[in-house]
Amino acid sequence: MTRKPGLCEAEGNTTNQLQTEQEHINKNLEHVRHKILVLSGKGGVGKSTIAANLAVSLSLANKRVGLLDIDIHGPSIPKILNLEGRVIQVLGETMLPVQIGPDLKVMSIGFLLRDSDDAVIWRGPMKNQVIKQFLKDVKWGSLDFLIVDSPPGTGDEPLSIVQLLGDADGAIIVTTPQQLALSDVRKSISFCRNLNMPVLGVLENMSGFVCPKCGEQTDIFSLGGGQDMARQLGIHFLGRIPIDPQIVQACDTGQPYVSNDRRNETAKAFSQVTQHVLMLENQGKTEKVNVNQKGARKMRIAIPVVEGKLSQHFGHCETFVIVDTDGDSRKVLNRKDLTPPRHEPGVLPTWLHGEGVNVIIAGGMGQRAQQLFAQNQIEVVVGAPAESPESLVSAYLNNTLQAGENICDH
Ligand code: ADP
Repeated sequence: MTRKPGLCEAEGNTTNQLQTEQEHINKNLEHVRHKILVLSGKGGVGKSTIAANLAVSLSLANKRVGLLDIDIHGPSIPKILNLEGRVIQVLGETMLPVQIGPDLKVMSIGFLLRDSDDAVIWRGPMKNQVIKQFLKDVKWGSLDFLIVDSPPGTGDEPLSIVQLLGDADGAIIVTTPQQLALSDVRKSISFCRNLNMPVLGVLENMSGFVCPKCGEQTDIFSLGGGQDMARQLGIHFLGRIPIDPQIVQACDTGQPYVSNDRRNETAKAFSQVTQHVLMLENQGKTEKVNVNQKGARKMRIAIPVVEGKLSQHFGHCETFVIVDTDGDSRKVLNRKDLTPPRHEPGVLPTWLHGEGVNVIIAGGMGQRAQQLFAQNQIEVVVGAPAESPESLVSAYLNNTLQAGENICDH
């Protein structure tokens, strides 16, 4: 993957030096299978909370995980994980990350600061040097996932991380309902697009409120803003995490929220994001780039068809018609007809996800299949009429698709 040339390299560095540094970074990260950035348009939206909980969640799923906190302006990972005051071990030229349990390694810029105001006085080149050093000199070893808690915004620091990381799998953009209104998310998305960084999805944090007494969720802002925006921009919507006092408590006590086995809306939302990230293990990079980045406004729609019309029984179709569309021009770009694998529980959702599908237009569909698609961030329209794929796609793109009853809910 190519990146645009750097805009913010340290003063006085020659091209050769930069090349050598980049080679060191690539070498140091060569055994890291997936690199994921957690980004946000502004600070205080819960980016570090999400990054830390995602890392813990992946490690609880027995993945080898690194969590790198380079949020220079507010390195809160040490607090969230109860690692404040830890001293980094330095061995010659290398630094050892702090190990939590068998599968999670953590490095934070916070470990280098005497107090949180220190970084504020650092000049740009200094910040970039520290970021580089963390990518080049921290001994991560072999990892399944490296989660990077990036500085907020779209300025020099996130820019240099994206450039230095090279072939990252993509970014998770964290936002709040207020930020959606301020279109900061759009800025973050175009930032990623300009840098050829796939957007893995948008996560709406602090969306609604969970009452600490009764556990009931109240929606303070109107619902669906994030989902609509993601749909318009052709990116995944990763879900909503409510304002939950248990998250604040977890952060304050250094006990990551997901480390306790909870069964509420917040836990479900975290699990959804984790499942989405775990799916990267089954995906080729080219597929991700095509669907999420280059064709960011494109949708891949799947329609189960029998005798040329939408099948009313999702699992019993002859063919899946897969159509690539352009959300902006509302045009169909191409169509292919695929024979699905044998119908067994759970097979079709995995297969369609692997085909890069992000919308399904269905007649009837069972609850379990709907849940599996939701976990894979695939939008499902159920109860569509038995019409030709062309007319259904056209109606969907023009927002005129009339979905009726789910006549085959098994
Ligand atoms: P950022 O990294 O974007 O600056 P943080 O992750 O440090 O934000 O979160 C800022 C504050 O918001 C923290 O005190 C954290 O506990 C709190 N917070 C984050 N997400 C939630 C949530 N869903 N519900 C309640 N508090 C939250």
